[in-house]
Amino acid sequence: MDNKKDSIYPVLHKYFGYSKFYPLQEDIIRWVLGRKDLFVLMPTGGGKSLCYQLPALLFDGITVVVSPLIALMKDQVDGLIENGISAAFINSSLRSDGIVTRKKELAEGKTKILYIAPERLAMPEFIRFLQGLKVSLFAIDESHCISEWGHDFRPEYRQLSMLRQHFPKTPIMALTATATPSVQRDIIEQLKLTDYRIFTASFNRKNLFYQIIPKDNPYHQILCFLKERKKESGIVYCQGRKTVEHLAESLQNDGYRALPYHAGLSAEMRTENQERFIREDVEIIVATIAFGMGIDKPNIRYVIHYDLPKSIEGYYQETGRAGRDGLKSDCILLFSYADKMKIEYFIRQKEDENEKHVAYKQLREIVSYCESNVCRRRILLDYFGEKFSEHNCGNCDLCLNPKEQFDGTVIAQKLLSCVYRVGECFGMHYVIDVLLGSKNQKVLQNGHTALSTYGIGKEYSKPQWLAFSRELIQSGYLSLDGEKYPVLKLNKQSREILLGRKKVFLTKPEETPSFAVSKEDTNYDQALYERLRVLRKSIADRESMPPYIIFHDTSLKEMSTRYPQTASDLEKISGVGELKLRKYGALFLKEICDYCRQHAVIPKQDNFKQRAFAEKQTRTPTIYATLELCKNNLSLQEIAGKRGLATSTISTHLEKLILGGEDVSIDKFVDPGKQQHIRAAIEKLGVEALSPVKELLGEGYSYDEIKLVRAEMMYAMRKKETDTE
Ligand code: ADP
Ligand code: ZN
Repeated sequence: MDNKKDSIYPVLHKYFGYSKFYPLQEDIIRWVLGRKDLFVLMPTGGGKSLCYQLPALLFDGITVVVSPLIALMKDQVDGLIENGISAAFINSSLRSDGIVTRKKELAEGKTKILYIAPERLAMPEFIRFLQGLKVSLFAIDESHCISEWGHDFRPEYRQLSMLRQHFPKTPIMALTATATPSVQRDIIEQLKLTDYRIFTASFNRKNLFYQIIPKDNPYHQILCFLKERKKESGIVYCQGRKTVEHLAESLQNDGYRALPYHAGLSAEMRTENQERFIREDVEIIVATIAFGMGIDKPNIRYVIHYDLPKSIEGYYQETGRAGRDGLKSDCILLFSYADKMKIEYFIRQKEDENEKHVAYKQLREIVSYCESNVCRRRILLDYFGEKFSEHNCGNCDLCLNPKEQFDGTVIAQKLLSCVYRVGECFGMHYVIDVLLGSKNQKVLQNGHTALSTYGIGKEYSKPQWLAFSRELIQSGYLSLDGEKYPVLKLNKQSREILLGRKKVFLTKPEETPSFAVSKEDTNYDQALYERLRVLRKSIADRESMPPYIIFHDTSLKEMSTRYPQTASDLEKISGVGELKLRKYGALFLKEICDYCRQHAVIPKQDNFKQRAFAEKQTRTPTIYATLELCKNNLSLQEIAGKRGLATSTISTHLEKLILGGEDVSIDKFVDPGKQQHIRAAIEKLGVEALSPVKELLGEGYSYDEIKLVRAEMMYAMRKKETDTE
């Protein structure tokens, strides 16, 4: 067994083309290799599949994977075969001769991984067949489907509780990305796991940028966002079918490749639209929540919630479909109180009191998430019982642009008195029109131009007034009443303000509420990347496979950064395993070399000695917390003190930031005179090791100082090289 454990890294590289594990993968794999049961709780994109696919290669027998979605099995199996792993699926989409062939291959020991739907495991004939083979592991994917408490209960999954009885000695691995404690207990009980361990990965999806925008002319808002992302894949979630249809059509008319997806479409239509999205014939899917369970497409770059989701759990699942490949992706929610009221309306129609109660609670939670002033990530993780201790996550709208407060009493008084003057029977937009002195028909007809509050709010724009109104509602100084056409009404608290007995603080308005555009990664050669994408798509179409099965975007981006010239260079790119190198290596190398020639790009000598590209990709929040403090003119010791970390840790953070191209001046940390000496010493002794430099310089110089100067020198060198390319 031990030599098996030693071979996990070579296998990782050979078959998957990776050099490192994601968090927990290695622990999980080592545990499985000990042939014991386990329960794996990992968010989407956490890398669950590798946890059973890699051990499968080390076991003598077969690994049986139970998965609820027949439609996805083929892609999963194709992906494995592309990696040189013998895999197959048996499901109802096959003709009986297809099943016979596969069974034969299984019996001959030719197949390592078998995908099946749960129904099949309920067939006595199939159980007997499996019993005749050597099954080394059962992996139950999406295992929350077994639980009635979960949101995806599937009766077929219940039958899996028979597994233990038929295969008492075969380890079972249950995997899921959603599990509240009760669902978790239920899964473990149903599957009768024994002597098991639970592995829970962090639910923090560091690469997802969360932002919430007041919904105001939503179509225009999403067009603004999409303008810059014509080539990227994304999902737009809407609450209803009509919105889906309508929105998909509008996007098509505006020149986007978008398709609808909802439960009202025929099954064929849905499959086709999903397929076209996965194969990248279209970039956008506009969908109801019916879309997405088990979507494996790794390069979904954004998920937009066009309407308010019904719960945090749903929202987290849906946003979770973005950025499985670990690259930066956007999650945008357009929030409006009108949507909240729509959902309330639907809840009121429910018969079951308990259901009603749960739905209200979920709605309250998502609304307070939207209204909150603290880090989005913190609230989400808190919801899943995970403590997030970073002060600033560095990747949500609130952490990037903290809201500033100011005394808004006069603003509130203007708005409230206008509500009063119009008789408390108009909606938000109308009241604001009056404040702004609008000449629109309705205002004229109602004679509201004569009101004392007419036109007294011109110092702010309409979106800003809308933001103030929402905030006043949220903090209870103003009420919204009515279902279909909600109107603004005063309440007890409003009077306190109007009478000048109380002050109100409001959030400082932005010019126009807009997207806090998350910075796109542009450290790669975009022209080359485009060419590689085109090449990938043509191969994918020829082999009728989704492009990501050939290579992930991450691999193409890395190629467009490091310009591999030889097979041995290419093999060092993450995601390039042995078989892919053989199958596609020559094609991709040719494209890259041609490109380099045509554009006179001379790849750097040490391109393949540098640290892996992937390491540069993830912004770890902790170093960004250091960056923030750095902007406040603090010394190394002060930053260390504030963060409760050693100065050496802080200098390492700064080193990474400098190398990553962040604008950090080291003058505050190292006296310019000393910098000169350190530079001279490094030039003499080289950048590889710090201690000889320290030795040469003597007592008056610290490792921290040397490290920072070295980082700056290395960055300058690198920059010079790339500039001359
Ligand atoms: P999950 O099923 O948990 O959502 P997947 O198994 O689909 O996650 O993996 C998410 C993505 O991460 C996939 O594109 C996969 O190829 C990639 N991946 C998994 N493990 C690694 C690793 N160790 N190194 C690099 N990429 C990985
Ligand atoms: Zn945050």
